[in-house]
Amino acid sequence: MSVVGFDFGNLSGVVAVARQRGIDVVLNDESNRETPAIACFGEKQRFLGTAGAASSMMNPKNTISQIKRLIGRQFSDPELQNDLKSLPFAVTEGPDGYLLIHARYLGEMRTFTPTQVLGMVFSDLKIIAEKNLNAAVVDCCIGIPIYFTDLQRRAVMDAAKIAGLHPLRLFHETTATALAYGIYKTDLPENDPINVAFIDIGHSSMQVCIAAFKKGQLKILSHSFDRCLGGRDFDEVLFNHFASKFKDEYQIDVNQNAKACLRLRAACEKLKKVLSANPEAPLNIECLMDEKDKPLENALSEAGLTPENIHSVEVVGSSSRVPAVMKILSEFFGKEPRRTMNASECVAKGCALQCAILSPTFKVRDFQVHESFPFPIALSWKGTAPDTENGGTENQQSTIVFPKGNLIPSVKALTFYRSSTFTVDVQYADVKEFQAPAKMSTYTIGPFQSTKGERAKLKVKVRLNMHGIVSVESATLLEEEEVEVPVAKELTKDQINMETDNVPADAPQSGNEADVNMQDAKAPADVSASENGVLESGNDNPEQMETDAKVEAPKKKVKKTNVPLSEVVYGAMLPADLQKAVEKEFEMALQDRVMEETKDKKNAVEAYVYDMRNKLYDKYQDFITEPDREQFIAKLQEVEDWLYEDGEDETKGVYIAKLEELKKQGDPIEHRYKESTERGAVIDQLSY
Ligand code: ATP
Ligand code: MG
Repeated sequence: MSVVGFDFGNLSGVVAVARQRGIDVVLNDESNRETPAIACFGEKQRFLGTAGAASSMMNPKNTISQIKRLIGRQFSDPELQNDLKSLPFAVTEGPDGYLLIHARYLGEMRTFTPTQVLGMVFSDLKIIAEKNLNAAVVDCCIGIPIYFTDLQRRAVMDAAKIAGLHPLRLFHETTATALAYGIYKTDLPENDPINVAFIDIGHSSMQVCIAAFKKGQLKILSHSFDRCLGGRDFDEVLFNHFASKFKDEYQIDVNQNAKACLRLRAACEKLKKVLSANPEAPLNIECLMDEKDKPLENALSEAGLTPENIHSVEVVGSSSRVPAVMKILSEFFGKEPRRTMNASECVAKGCALQCAILSPTFKVRDFQVHESFPFPIALSWKGTAPDTENGGTENQQSTIVFPKGNLIPSVKALTFYRSSTFTVDVQYADVKEFQAPAKMSTYTIGPFQSTKGERAKLKVKVRLNMHGIVSVESATLLEEEEVEVPVAKELTKDQINMETDNVPADAPQSGNEADVNMQDAKAPADVSASENGVLESGNDNPEQMETDAKVEAPKKKVKKTNVPLSEVVYGAMLPADLQKAVEKEFEMALQDRVMEETKDKKNAVEAYVYDMRNKLYDKYQDFITEPDREQFIAKLQEVEDWLYEDGEDETKGVYIAKLEELKKQGDPIEHRYKESTERGAVIDQLSY
C-alpha cells in the first residue's frame, strides 16, 4: 500500500511520500520538487508537467493550465469567465452547462472536460511518486482548498479515479499544513490549547485557517478564504500596467496576440519575484489588497477570537513571499508572521502524513485531526402542511443537517413519515459565500411498502464523508411488529448485535424488489421530518445508533428493510462516462509511452552511429579490414542521413530493426577487439 500525499496547485504540484524514516518530497525527472500542473496536447502525444510547460510558449492554444480554477465550475459563472480571459486555450459551454476544453491532439480538434485534464495532471504526479517509490501508487491523500464545492470535490475524486488513484481522504490544504506543523511539535500544552493562524497565499487564492493545538491533537476552529487573490492577481496588476503602457506609447495591443500575452505575463511574474527580494520596491499591491483583510477578520470572528488570542501566525504558499503581504499580515495580527514550514511543500507533506495516519502501512505518532466543514448543508423536501386534508398544498421544507463547522466525517439520521416514493434535495444553506447553485443533489427514496397501509416510518441517513462530500447514504423502512421480545436490559450483547445485523446498513440499495405495490395513504397529513440520532462527534458508526434505538423501545421488535435510493448529482460525471474517461486516459497514456519509447529507440540508433564511427577511427581500427571499415563508415553515414530525412518519424519497430542491422555488422568487430584485449591481459599476467 502506498502512502503518498499530493498537493495539486493551480500552478504546480508537489508529491510527498512516506518512508520508514519520515516524509520526503520527491523529485521529478528534471530533479525539481515542484511540477507544473500542465497538460499540453501534441500531434503525436501529450506532454505533461515540466515537458508540458516547456511547450506552452510554442503551442499555447493546446496547452492547458490552471485546471484547478476550472473543475466543477459552470460556464456562466462570472468568476470563471473572468479567469478565462487570461487563458490562451479555447473553452466552451458543454450541453450540461459545464466546461469543454478544446485542443488539437493527434491531428484533430478534440474536447476534454476539466476533470479529464485534472486526471492527466494526477497521472503525471502519480508517475513521479511511482518512480521514486519503485512501486505502484494507488492509496493517497490529495489536498484541496477549503472552498471547494461538493461538485468540485466529486470532480477531484473522479479525476483521481481516472488517474488510477484511490484517495483515502481529500484533505483541506490548510489542515494539511496545520498537521505538518503540529505533529512534530513536542512542546504542545496538555490542557490549554494554543491557537495558530495559517495563511496560504498561492497562485490564485488565499486561505486562512485557525487551529487549536494541544498534545496529540489539532482542532480546526475556523476557515476563511478569498478565492480570487493570489500571485496570479499580482502578475495581472503588472500585466495591465505594461499592456496599457505599450498601447499608449507604441500602439501595440498585446491582448491581440496569445503568445505576446504569455510572454508579457511571464515577464511580469519574473519582475514580481525580483521585486519580492527588495522590500523597498514600488510594487503597489496594497491597493489590490484593499479590503482583503476580510478573510482574516472572518476567520477570527468565527473562531470567537481576537488577534491577542493568536499564539502565532504561520504563512505558507509561494505568494506569501511578496513583502506587502507580510506587512499587511503583521499589521493585522500585531505580530510578525512566521515561516516555520517550507512554504511550497507543507501541503503535500501534511497530506502524506494524513495518508500515513489512515493507512495501516506505517505506525504514526498518535495525533488526532478534528476537521471542520466550511459550509452549512441543508436537506429539503416537499412536505404537506399538517392542517390540510387529503394531500393539500405542498410546500418546501428544509432543515440544516450539517451546520457550518460540523465535524468531518459525520452521519446524521432523519425520520420521515411517508406513504409513497418521495424526493429530498441536498443543498447549500448559504450560497452567499461562493457562486454555486444551491441545489447539489436530489435523492429519490422508494418505492416502499408499509404493512399497515399507513404512512411508513423511514429513517434516512445522510453522510458527510471524509472528503467533505455529502450524500444520502441509505433509507430504511422501520416497521414495528407486536412481537414480545425480552426487554433491553435482558438482552445480551449478542442478541442486540444479532438484531442489528438483520438490518444491513451497508447492504446494496438495489436489494429491494422494484415491484412492491404502493399502499394508498389514508392519512392526510405528512409529518415533517424530525432530526434524531445525531451521532457523537467522531463517532461514525451507524451500528451504534441502531442499538440505541432498540433500547428505547424494548417491547417491540422493529423490522428494518432497505429502501431503494437513486441519486442525481447536478453536474457530476455519470458512472458510465467516468468509466469511458478511465479507458480514454489509459489509451492516451499508452500512446505517450509508445512515443517516449520510440524516441528512446531513435536516440539509441543515433548514439550507436556516433559511437561506432568514433571507435572505427580509433580503437577498432586494427580489428577490421580497410575496405570493410570504409564500407561500414559509409553505412553509418547513410543511417545518420536517414535519421534526419526519411527515418525522422518512424515507428519504434523500425528503429529497433535499424539498430539490429547495424549491430550485426558492428558486433563481430567489437567481439574481436574484446577478445584481443582480454588475451593481452592474460599475457601481461603471465609475463610477471
Ligand atoms: P494554489 O495553491 O493557489 O492552487 P499553487 O499551490 O500552485 O496554487 P504556489 O506554488 O503556492 O501556488 O504559489 C505560486 C505563486 O507564487 C505564483 O503566482 C508565483 O508567481 C508566486 N511566487 C513564487 N515565488 C515568488 C516570489 N519569490 N515572490 C513573489 N511571488 C512568488
Ligand atoms: Mg497551493
